[in-house]
Amino acid sequence: MPAAQTRKPVAEGLFTWPSDDPQLLGSKCPDCAEVTFPSQTGCPACSASRCEQVGLSRSGTLWTWTVQNFPPPHPYLGDAREFVPFGVGYIELAEGVRVESRLTENDADKLAIGMQMNLVIEAFGTDADRNELVTFAFAPAETS
Ligand SMILES: [Zn+2]
Repeated sequence: MPAAQTRKPVAEGLFTWPSDDPQLLGSKCPDCAEVTFPSQTGCPACSASRCEQVGLSRSGTLWTWTVQNFPPPHPYLGDAREFVPFGVGYIELAEGVRVESRLTENDADKLAIGMQMNLVIEAFGTDADRNELVTFAFAPAETS
């Protein structure tokens, strides 16, 4: 039998995990209400330094997008020979923040600016300890 595997986030602090209802983790400025992602303590809008971590909306609208047709430069976790084109875009959430994200859809005919997108957590390879890595992505609402 293969060794038991753990599903681990590809990076800590990006989204709530493990969770049945995962949310991206951003930060909100208590002074001017600016929301940022990923979370940070300093506010980019007013220079306050005590922003608080907040869970963000699990859906938003596709602000812009493209399809990545070649492997990204280092650090690329996958095997370049097994590369599959993937969608990447910015999702505008209700909080007003735009989140850069992988998209589950890589067919340009099925992506359109302004469409509703939902947060999903998906597999993203394995690490050296054979843990399954997971990362966040957005999926078109009508197919998810
Ligand atoms: Zn601020």
